Amino acid sequence: MRYEAFHQRSIDDPEGFWAEQARAIDWHTPPQKILDYRDPPFRRWFSGGTTNLCHNAVDRHLDARGEQLALVAISSETGVTREISYRELFDEVNVFASMLKSLDVGRGDRVVIYMPNMAEAVFAMLACARIGAVHSVVFGGFASHNLALRIDDARPKLLICADAGMRGGKVIAYKPLVDAACTEAQHPPPHVLMVSRGLDPDASRVEGRDVDYDALRAAHAGARVEVEWLESNEPSYLLYTSGTTGKPKGVQRDVGGYAVALALSMWSIYDVRAGQVMFSTSDVGWAVGHSYNVYGPLIVGATSILYEGLPTNPDPGVWWSICEKYGVRTMFSSPTGIRVLKKQDAAWLKKHDLSQLQWLFLAGEPLDEPTAHWITDGIGKTIIDNYWQTETGWPVLSLMPGLDMKPVKFGSPGLPAPGYRLRVIDDVSGADVGAGEKGVLVIEPPLPPGCLTTVWGDDARFMQSYFSHFKELLYSSLDWAIRDEDGYTFILGRTDDVINVAGHRLGTREIEESCSTHPSVAEAAVIGVHDALKGQVPVVFATLREGDAAAAAEGMRARVVEQLGAVARPARVYVVGALPKTRSGKLLRRSLQALAEQRDPGDLSTLDDPGALDEVRRALERGADSGG
Ligand code: ATP
Ligand code: MG
Repeated sequence: MRYEAFHQRSIDDPEGFWAEQARAIDWHTPPQKILDYRDPPFRRWFSGGTTNLCHNAVDRHLDARGEQLALVAISSETGVTREISYRELFDEVNVFASMLKSLDVGRGDRVVIYMPNMAEAVFAMLACARIGAVHSVVFGGFASHNLALRIDDARPKLLICADAGMRGGKVIAYKPLVDAACTEAQHPPPHVLMVSRGLDPDASRVEGRDVDYDALRAAHAGARVEVEWLESNEPSYLLYTSGTTGKPKGVQRDVGGYAVALALSMWSIYDVRAGQVMFSTSDVGWAVGHSYNVYGPLIVGATSILYEGLPTNPDPGVWWSICEKYGVRTMFSSPTGIRVLKKQDAAWLKKHDLSQLQWLFLAGEPLDEPTAHWITDGIGKTIIDNYWQTETGWPVLSLMPGLDMKPVKFGSPGLPAPGYRLRVIDDVSGADVGAGEKGVLVIEPPLPPGCLTTVWGDDARFMQSYFSHFKELLYSSLDWAIRDEDGYTFILGRTDDVINVAGHRLGTREIEESCSTHPSVAEAAVIGVHDALKGQVPVVFATLREGDAAAAAEGMRARVVEQLGAVARPARVYVVGALPKTRSGKLLRRSLQALAEQRDPGDLSTLDDPGALDEVRRALERGADSGG
């Protein structure tokens, strides 16, 4: 079917469209009403229907594909690969669910999961789903304070952790972080279930609170636990946003709408069907991990590959060797991941047989053109930029190779996914802007299935964060966008990443793109710094792939002037060894900005590498490599 007709139908007749899509999953009781929109912007999809994510992801595949691989968990850190069939997954999840029940976890109770990319994290998620418990996976790279904040927001009955994770060969003990978080939290869980990988043999055990996974598992061997049938709109899980812009929000997802949206996206967007293989390099702690390492591939009966480790270990060809070995059809990663590879020899891209691989999707942040070209040429596959948010749970903008592949336009994530009524509007007047004009990307409610239902425990914050920006009731993405004549949307950065230079509004993203076209530049971050004369001026921080700092800095300024005009000329360019990033690999511009304006960088709990900030401090003390 043509994309245009498919999307149009989803907009013109949402109930008819989604009623059809709902047939892709199993329902215990069919939905009584496809869309209940009596209380805008809150909406209930498939109201009255009962279903279960675990049943759809596991049980229903047993007859047709019990012996097929469901999950392959590969760790280049521990060197262990686990190949798990649907039948084995069923066994593990049942045992885990039985363990949860024995720890007094039931329907509606929250369970915090704090684990690296390992098979037990997936078992834990599915076991929660099976019994109707609400999981909240917290990325294993977060420190104890972040964990404590999420514990207090979710108030879990149980926390499940690993003894340790590993990064680049270094063991990172998790248990001390869990202990510290439980001490800091006002509402610590009564029990902590620890899966020991033998990485931290001295991990502490708190008497009466801590439970050993291996021992409990043995006690529940062979257990079977009935699926709990949930009303479509009951919560399935919580997931906190990455906190690039402020205090993380507890995104709440439903059951039926989420399953249906994922099923649709798997075939139409990711072009993966039962029996095929999908490899997402995400961590289970992110939205991509939830949707496309766990639920999406399993709901459609595909094989999901989960990877723990660096993209460069044991060598920079490791991802491609996995694609070759398992016949991966669709791969999913991030621009950050590709930029890590870009610092390595491009010959690594050519060492493996990628004949099965069809598509590489990249999401999470702007995909700059030089990186897009580099990887397209390097692996000779179609690269599909994907735009979505933790809140939406699945793509908002994409191309849809499983339905009707449209041409790639570099710099654009493409066209609206089914069910999304997208508009680009003026941030002040709220009026739609014309093709080629810049505005804020908004979604006209009701939000399609799969998107958040609210912010956990805080409907007011849900309204205030997303629906309070315009006179009309609209969901603001908080991202700038331009739609071209063909309907392709370009994302220009976050609405709070705009700088005002002598009355000209400039997107920091445009300046970053321009700097990145310089061959020496690995990555550039642009911020607006207060200036007495002009209001704000652009300041660049960049990492280099090669070459001389002063020459590269001068070259970047020249390119910006040439491509964007003199008004965008960076006042100063600093070459640094590393840029401050969040744990999810996104630039933490607000910390750069604070340092450049000699302010306190504020909450750095989402910062990945504190060393990057020292780099920036030193560069500021040393003085700019160009300008200033
Ligand atoms: P927080 O909302 O807590 O500040 P965050 O916005 O970084 O954190 P995510 O939900 O992980 O949390 O990220 C979504 C955002 O990432 C989008 O709103 C957009 O700014 C950016 N983004 C995602 N994909 C793309 C893409 N393909 N192109 C450009 N930007 C993207
Ligand atoms: Mg956000």
